[in-house]
Amino acid sequence: MPGRLANKVAIITGAASGIGFEASVLFAKEGAKVVCADLNEAGVQKTVEKITAAIGPNLAIGVKVDISKEDQVKHLVDTAVSQFGRLDIMFNNAGIMHPEDDNALNTEQRIWDLTMDINVKGVWYGCKYAILAMRKSGGGSIINTASFVAIMGAATPQLAYTASKGAVLAMTRELAMVHARENIRFNSLCPGPLRTPLLMDFLNTEEKKQRRLVHVPQGRFGEAIEQANAALFLASDESSYITGTDFRVDGGLASAYVTPEGEPTGPVPKNFAETI
Ligand code: NAD
Repeated sequence: MPGRLANKVAIITGAASGIGFEASVLFAKEGAKVVCADLNEAGVQKTVEKITAAIGPNLAIGVKVDISKEDQVKHLVDTAVSQFGRLDIMFNNAGIMHPEDDNALNTEQRIWDLTMDINVKGVWYGCKYAILAMRKSGGGSIINTASFVAIMGAATPQLAYTASKGAVLAMTRELAMVHARENIRFNSLCPGPLRTPLLMDFLNTEEKKQRRLVHVPQGRFGEAIEQANAALFLASDESSYITGTDFRVDGGLASAYVTPEGEPTGPVPKNFAETI
């Protein structure tokens, strides 16, 4: 049975872990040829091995890339085209949330710059070279991972991360308009809090986890596969009339004013920064 991404070629960044890993396996299952890209070379090879073992050979390749380096992103896109002949889907998903990212007073410039270089410039470079390749394929779908913090004010200070994800939303919207007539669609994926290493390393006690869950109407962390399923929809032709959206996959978080129990979702104690 042909899959939902039959005959398509996809690049997925951040493919060694979390959302990127799940999306790599899912996209391959649905018939795409997948270029799994990540800074973590050993991790990305494991993703390729998983695809080979679970689905079959010659469906995926791994590429080591630092998305904050323009020449490396160009090389990534060139590799996809030379190996698989075209590019239809670019999932700019890799990102960092630095442990030293803090509020306006405490965030150091090097943390700000590093976060912007990866989370914003990395997405820009991914879009830039994907556009050039997709023009030759007659169009495509570009999905950029943002976050719920781009939409909602978070009282947990992580200023550079929040600003970077806001930039991803704004950039994605503009690109969607500029390239709409070229049949290149752009959408942002806005995950809620997920049970992936990125967030669980940060919310490293049960108390911190429960504190965060107060905000989520569905009362649980999201799973990476739930983001991958949404990315699959945005990548496939099923979403052919959808471009420029902030696609929220967040357990209802960004729609919440009170919890289902009627409690305010955001009770912020005075010592909030210490409690989370
Ligand atoms: P993760 O940490 O599990 O995976 C991120 C991957 O990106 C890692 O494999 C890492 O090696 C890779 N990476 C980091 N810097 C890179 C670089 N410079 N070049 C190439 N690869 C690099 O995280 P995840 O939870 O799967 O997050 C994926 C995306 O989702 C990120 O953009 C993140 O900001 C976003 N997001 C996550 C959550 C969450 O709760 N986990 C919530 C909202 C948004």
